[in-house]
Amino acid sequence: MQQPITLIGGGLVGALLAVLLAQRGLRVEVFEKRDDPRLPGTVAAGRSINLALAERGLQALRVAGQADAVMRHAVMMRGRMVHTQGGHSGLQRYGVDDSEVIWSVSRGVLNRLLLDAAEQAGARLHFGQALSAVDFEHDRIELAGADGVRRQADAGLLIGTDGAGSALRAAMHAHAPLGERVEALGHGYKELEIPPAMLASAAVAGEDARFALEPHALHIWPRGGYMCIALPNTEGSFTVTLFLPTDGDWPSFVQLADAEAAERFFRDEFPDLLALMPSFAADYRSHPVGGLYTLYLDRWHLGGKALLLGDAAHAIVPFHGQGMNCGFEDTVALAGLLAAGGDSAELFAEFQRVRQPNADAIAAMALENYVEMRDSVADPHYLAKRELGLRLAARAPGHFMARYRMVTFTHLPYAYALERGRAQDALLERLLAGSTDAASVDLDVAAAALQAALPPLPDLRHG
Ligand SMILES: Cc1cc2nc3c(=O)[nH]c(=O)nc-3n(C[C@H](O)[C@H](O)[C@H](O)COP(=O)(O)OP(=O)(O)OC[C@H]3O[C@@H](n4cnc5c(N)ncnc54)[C@H](O)[C@@H]3O)c2cc1C
Repeated sequence: MQQPITLIGGGLVGALLAVLLAQRGLRVEVFEKRDDPRLPGTVAAGRSINLALAERGLQALRVAGQADAVMRHAVMMRGRMVHTQGGHSGLQRYGVDDSEVIWSVSRGVLNRLLLDAAEQAGARLHFGQALSAVDFEHDRIELAGADGVRRQADAGLLIGTDGAGSALRAAMHAHAPLGERVEALGHGYKELEIPPAMLASAAVAGEDARFALEPHALHIWPRGGYMCIALPNTEGSFTVTLFLPTDGDWPSFVQLADAEAAERFFRDEFPDLLALMPSFAADYRSHPVGGLYTLYLDRWHLGGKALLLGDAAHAIVPFHGQGMNCGFEDTVALAGLLAAGGDSAELFAEFQRVRQPNADAIAAMALENYVEMRDSVADPHYLAKRELGLRLAARAPGHFMARYRMVTFTHLPYAYALERGRAQDALLERLLAGSTDAASVDLDVAAAALQAALPPLPDLRHG
């Protein structure tokens, strides 16, 4: 493909795509609205300070040769550490052992590493340049500098990795409607922080003593209609996120508008967590409430002129920790298609054909996972189903794999995981028949029923 590729947005997905395309010998220009986050003094912008990296994202980083560099900055998370209101906590492992874990990585570190790699691979990066308009008739774009100066450039092959509020998507939609649908969750989030522990008061021993909580877990304080989570950072702190209805009856962000009301709420609902956040009031006051929604588009591309991917095409709610992972999977698929060459309209259509059913599937699973995280993880029936699933997976590993494991630790398409997960769930419901005692189910009968009802799983790691 001779035409230069113009990426709008040098965030996580844009930076990784730039690496992959430049490595394949394609000419890549990246226009990013923010200043270069690698320069001293720039605050790495980002809605969440850290993210959970799972197998799909890791695989994309391996393809780009960046996995080792990223993993040097990652903290392993073995499972969910569920904290009850009574102050008890217990780990629910995500996988079967430490080969099935997820990783907490800093958004800023990851972005900077990928920008370095993109530049080294030959991509040209332009910072402080926000896309402000597109002339699709004449293949020109307009970019606004931080100083207000606007300049024109050739559009090239336009690819939008400019996130959920994509300016390229808006320009494409104005030119020819994309069939956009945005579904707000009605819940928002606010980030808070647990600082590194004082060594003397650390809750964990040894080299992990700088963490105030068990470092190798994703902590959850489920409270039914809302929750807090915390992910570890390498230097010993945790990024805490409060998820709460945006408005309506107490508790909601509208009802908890000031830090004093929020502190009273935390004292009642999350007293153990509040005790670990000395700067709670200041953080609560200064950090904004972020919105959560799912974006669906009928069309991801404008003929062969422009294509969207990552959050710009399919922003999802964050409860499966898969938004970036899914966007990273997008980049590998697209780089493969573009490197193979051909008519760009056909390549873009093929990309959408392959990726959209999977983006829709992870969007649905992410929504379902909110209920699971804030509520079900403490529900006896859910726990019995989980336990029976674990037993079946051990008894018939070629036939049963928890949906979470398919999504998080394999490359099976998301759409497959959604469909298979539904079928497995129906079977577990049937076998348990309302019981909350997984041990009461005869495993021989259960395995026979499973094998009769469902075909074997595909090759698990490389499906
Ligand atoms: C609270 C929260 C927690 C999350 N946790 C996880 C997680 O644990 N795991 C996970 O996989 N995902 C997670 N996600 C999702 C993840 O953050 C996104 O899926 C990911 O950031 C998408 O990357 P992106 O590059 O498509 O978009 P972004 O990261 O939003 O990057 C877009 C880039 O485009 C730039 N830009 C915007 N407008 C313009 C313009 N006009 N011109 C030029 N540049 C522009 C922006 O400055 C930015 O650099 C979470 C999201 C939220 C909100």
